[in-house]
Amino acid sequence: MTEENATHKYDVASLKGLTLLYVEDDDDIREELARYLRRRSGNLWTAVNGQEGLELFRQHRPDVVVTDIMMPVMDGLRMAVEIKAIDYDTPVVVTTAFNDYDLLLKAIDAGIDKYVLKPIDVESLLEAIYKAAQIVFQRREIVSRDEKLHLAATVFEASSEGIMITDAGNNIVTANRAFTEITGYAEEEVRGKNPSLLNSGRQEREFYHAMWESLNRHGHWQGEIWNRRKNGELYPEWLVINVVRNGGGEISHYIAVFSDISQRKYDEERIAYLAHYDPLTDLPNRVLFQDQLGRLLASSQRQEKPVAILLLDLDRFKNVNESLGHVFGDQLLQQVAQRLRSVVSEEDLVARLGGDEYVVVLSDLGEAQNAALVAQKILDGFASPFSVDAQEISITASIGASLYPDDGDSPDALLKNAESAMYGAKQSGRNSYRFYTQSMNASVLSLLKMENAMHHALERGEFRLHYQPQADIVTGRIIGMEALIRWQHPERGMVPPMEFIPLAEESGFIIPIGEWVLREACRQTKLWHDAGYSDLCVAVNLSAVQFKQSNLTDVIQGAAEAAGLDLRCLELELTESLVMHNAEDVIKTLQQLKSLNLQLSIDDFGTGYSSMSYLKRFPVDKLKIDKSFIRDISDDPADLAISQAIIALGHSLGLRVIAEGVETAAQLALLHANRCDEIQGYYFSKPVEAAAFTKLLEEGRTLDIPKD
Ligand code: C2E
Ligand code: MG
Ligand code: MG
Repeated sequence: MTEENATHKYDVASLKGLTLLYVEDDDDIREELARYLRRRSGNLWTAVNGQEGLELFRQHRPDVVVTDIMMPVMDGLRMAVEIKAIDYDTPVVVTTAFNDYDLLLKAIDAGIDKYVLKPIDVESLLEAIYKAAQIVFQRREIVSRDEKLHLAATVFEASSEGIMITDAGNNIVTANRAFTEITGYAEEEVRGKNPSLLNSGRQEREFYHAMWESLNRHGHWQGEIWNRRKNGELYPEWLVINVVRNGGGEISHYIAVFSDISQRKYDEERIAYLAHYDPLTDLPNRVLFQDQLGRLLASSQRQEKPVAILLLDLDRFKNVNESLGHVFGDQLLQQVAQRLRSVVSEEDLVARLGGDEYVVVLSDLGEAQNAALVAQKILDGFASPFSVDAQEISITASIGASLYPDDGDSPDALLKNAESAMYGAKQSGRNSYRFYTQSMNASVLSLLKMENAMHHALERGEFRLHYQPQADIVTGRIIGMEALIRWQHPERGMVPPMEFIPLAEESGFIIPIGEWVLREACRQTKLWHDAGYSDLCVAVNLSAVQFKQSNLTDVIQGAAEAAGLDLRCLELELTESLVMHNAEDVIKTLQQLKSLNLQLSIDDFGTGYSSMSYLKRFPVDKLKIDKSFIRDISDDPADLAISQAIIALGHSLGLRVIAEGVETAAQLALLHANRCDEIQGYYFSKPVEAAAFTKLLEEGRTLDIPKD
């Protein structure tokens, strides 16, 4: 060890922080060494004899005492004895001449810890002081370790986070107060147990697997976990686990620190809820509405589906608020929300935009006009009074409607336009709805008028059946007739079926109308049978909506029975597009119908897309060539070819073929030449009322059959 190094070792690092008492009667030595030591120690007191030194010791309790032995008044050894009596652990270093052997022995008796020979070599002095001070350092460390332990214990107990310590075998060693507060288990209850007693069952095995993997690999894991309290309640906690290893690097403990985050989670959810919902009605608020509508528009654009926005504002709600109070008003708003929800279907979006303004978004509309039906349904929903605080109150609403994409392609634009429509509704006397586009108002109006009128038409017997004869092309005789509906409208006169049948189909009103047609056709045909024309078959057109009716066979049987008509004389006309759509299902229905022993024909044949394989399997009796082919049959070779093909096809399948819309002798001649079986058309007779048809029968009208 070089001197420099040694000096460095004791000089800088070692004595710092130590307080020293240096006693020496030789002024030169004392002053020189004092200067030297003062620079290297924490604090230094000097004394010139034992008496003074003892005094200073009492006063300042220095860590280490360095003293000469031979001094006046009180020598160093006596002083050392006194000091040791006060605190035996205070190290005393003596400086002494080499030959003072006796004194040295006395010094040992006095409990002296170290000695340094005179003349003093500073290096040796420092080393002696340093070595003697070991006990001071140790004492200090013990004190600081005790303090740390005390602090740690306090932190452990006082922590608001739950702390659980387990041993290497994952048995609980200890747990703190917060652990008990959070889990409900006292420390005694869990000591020695496995922490799995807290398992909620919410986490999969893979979750724990990953946790252990991380602990083993990184000595650390943290994350969110659901645990179970002693009372069975599940709660989320934020958990941090650290592995503790001993000196040998083996795992000795796991320290788990966790906090109950159920309140935080609840708060977060509540905040998220409040950001998107109206707390009064629980409906989505404007923010969520805009967001959802935006999304809806995007998906509707892809699917090319219309979307309707109905903006609803309560009429004179301000009066309610002012006269009955805000609490009452709030309750009413809640009930309005409930009623709105109950009126529209589940998929429809209902939101409260604020105040007494609500919005309904209809995305599964089909026809845009259906928005009017829903708007009316909502207004009807307001017809019965609300009951708030056992008090009945009636309120109406005004609705403005805008349609996507016609009235705008952004939530803002649609809302703005719905709003202006809503003001229109308010101005026109409230309790009504308006569309943003004027033409919508008109067409909806006529549609609704028409629907209303149809209801009345059935009740008031405004529907009539006309009959158009069907003639056999070989014998020329009338073999049957097609029943065609007419509407004798009180103001509009005769309304052709194409103007109301599609509407009736859309609204479902075709069901009662269709049933009426069946009954009336059967009744009238039975009359003709009774009058002696018992071979006549009546053909009735069946709509697709009726065809899907589950009790169709009952309805048909009921109609025939009520009239007393043999079902063999009833023919049902089904359009080609109807039967070819969903053919597999159709076959089943056709078989059911056929089992009633009635006749089936395919109407408008040639206009749809027939599959030959299906046609073969359909239990039908007749094909009806559509009038569009007959119209130009004399001039257009293609139409002639199609008609010929249909006749050939029908015959090859064992079916009869009838041509409809035959207006001229030339058309008849061509059909005759091509072996068509029957014809129907203006050439022979227009559809006529029952009485006129009876006349035809009585006259014995026959078809002029062309010569071959
Ligand atoms: P459809 O079943 O194809 O009926 C034939 C249509 O052709 C009838 O029109 C008939 O008046 C018309 N017609 C007959 N002969 C001629 C002719 O020589 N030339 C021309 N240009 N037309 C002729 P209508 O009565 O206007 O009926 C139209 C459609 O309405 C019917 O087509 C049928 O699909 C439907 N329809 C009529 N009555 C009923 C009904 O009671 N129920 C159902 N579901 N639909 C019906
Ligand atoms: Mg028809
Ligand atoms: Mg037809």
